[in-house]
Amino acid sequence: MKKSVRKAVIAGNWKMNNTPAQTTALINEMKPLVADADCEVVLCVPFVDVPAAVEAAKGSNIKIGAENVHFKDNGAYTGEVSADMLLALGVEYVVIGHSERRTYFGETDQTVNLRTLKALEKGLKPIVCVGETLEQRELGYTETLLKFQTKMALTNVTADQLKNVIIAYEPVWAIGTGVTATDDQADEGNGFVRAAIAEAYGAEAAEGVTVQYGGSMNAKNADELVDKVNVDGGLIGGASLKAPDFATIVKAASK
Ligand code: PEP
Repeated sequence: MKKSVRKAVIAGNWKMNNTPAQTTALINEMKPLVADADCEVVLCVPFVDVPAAVEAAKGSNIKIGAENVHFKDNGAYTGEVSADMLLALGVEYVVIGHSERRTYFGETDQTVNLRTLKALEKGLKPIVCVGETLEQRELGYTETLLKFQTKMALTNVTADQLKNVIIAYEPVWAIGTGVTATDDQADEGNGFVRAAIAEAYGAEAAEGVTVQYGGSMNAKNADELVDKVNVDGGLIGGASLKAPDFATIVKAASK
């Protein structure tokens, strides 16, 4: 299986932006611009925006995702949101292990794995983020780190469940900084992720997994990035908050 048969996924990650009213307006603006997409189009939005997003996206090709999910079914976890709660609202995807959650909210490789397992058990498609810091890159640990994070995130994930997993390679130094990885760096990082999956599940299974690049992807650089053999679309932060920019990236991934 080669890139040509892996469907690219362009997913927006809105982070902590947009009220429900702004959500409705932005999705209404995006809908006609991405209607002809030949890739999967996903918007991952803050929990409180999910109902407005699902409603606005109804009847369109935009799928809605959340930005996190808890690893327990329910219980005394103040401030957390379960997979069942998200599914009841119509959520299909969920971002797990974003570097901002790892940096600011104590997310670990273990909790990333638990959240991934719960999402898959419940039928949500996880977009699992992995990526090295600048220091780790400069020390020469990028491959080791990416393979470790990927394998940790997928611990106890079955080969069948793997088909619903998306991995996003997001170098931490490129997220929200305006510094994008070169297309070759993105391809190499995504290749390390795919190699780790191959080591755990075999080459054929690895060829079928969507591996996105994320980190300051924008309307100007998307074409070159998504052209790379190991880059199956992108996880888009800042540029997913502007309808024309997001649509241009979707167009690049649809070629
Ligand atoms: C992200 O939030 O996953 C991301 C890649 O952000 P940005 O595109 O703004 O760098």
